[in-house]
Amino acid sequence: MENLLLEAKDLVKEFPAGRRKKLHAVSGVSLRLYRGETLGLVGESGCGKSTLARLMVRLITPTSGQILMDGIDLTALSDKAYSPYRRRLQMVFQDPYASLDPRMTVRDLIAEPMETFRACPSGKETTRKVRALLEAVGLPQEALYRYPGQFSGGQRQRIGIARAISQDPDLIVCDEPVSALDISVQNQILNLLSDLKKARGMAYLFISHDLTVVRHLSDRVAVMFLGRICETGPTRQVFAAPMHPYTRLLLNAVPRPDPLLGREDLPLLTGEVPSAVDPPSGCRFRTRCPYAREKCAREVPSFAVRDGQEAACHFPLPAPS
Ligand code: SF4
Repeated sequence: MENLLLEAKDLVKEFPAGRRKKLHAVSGVSLRLYRGETLGLVGESGCGKSTLARLMVRLITPTSGQILMDGIDLTALSDKAYSPYRRRLQMVFQDPYASLDPRMTVRDLIAEPMETFRACPSGKETTRKVRALLEAVGLPQEALYRYPGQFSGGQRQRIGIARAISQDPDLIVCDEPVSALDISVQNQILNLLSDLKKARGMAYLFISHDLTVVRHLSDRVAVMFLGRICETGPTRQVFAAPMHPYTRLLLNAVPRPDPLLGREDLPLLTGEVPSAVDPPSGCRFRTRCPYAREKCAREVPSFAVRDGQEAACHFPLPAPS
């Protein structure tokens, strides 16, 4: 499709986990990202979201599978051949402090990617661009020669965002970018991300365990459980009529404006997430699924499709009548 920006095909990432054992962090994930869209990726902690994020921007290499951009498999490129793509695919991390060198000034932190890619002709021109980026992310010009330790968590996240947008990327992978921040600051950063997207037209892969945040920000949503995608589709549609039982149970746990309204009969998500070292056979959600039947232990479910929504379930939930 014309608007296709990035496509993950059957991505697998396994980590060694003791003698002859493997941790199955990502197990056959296929995902498409389109130009200018926000795709929300949700799931409980430990489901493989962050590993998938790191795979998408080549911070780690997959065990198998492909990541395609302009018809080229990025996983097969040498570091040198990947260099132009690195500029186009940026990442914003959960903990901005850990991702910013505390010994560098804000000017140098934001200038670093531009200097690496020789995007500016002179030091003066670079500083001018850094000043414009500070303004774009709502930081004062006095920030230029200060160090990350002199800023609050929200301001540090703004520095991380300025670094990411300095390259005019096509995609920013945001890995839980507000979960370490206070609620009021969270909203400011989310508004900033949404304003920047409107102004610059880039796409986001927005990773969060918080469904409310994802609902507000995303055009489409992908739900992940234990290394696999359970459901994808337009956000409104998935939230209004989930097809996968896991999505349904996650949504049941989201507080509503009137908590007493018709919630008594909703099943809730219970039980622990099974081990990714020894995941359940067939459907990985079956040990927690209230609708599991014998077939669910035997066969890995393929995707059932309904109006652009897809769910990996043998017995998808019906559309509300
Ligand atoms: Fe539940 Fe079976 Fe569907 Fe898995 S395949 S979500 S166990 S009904």
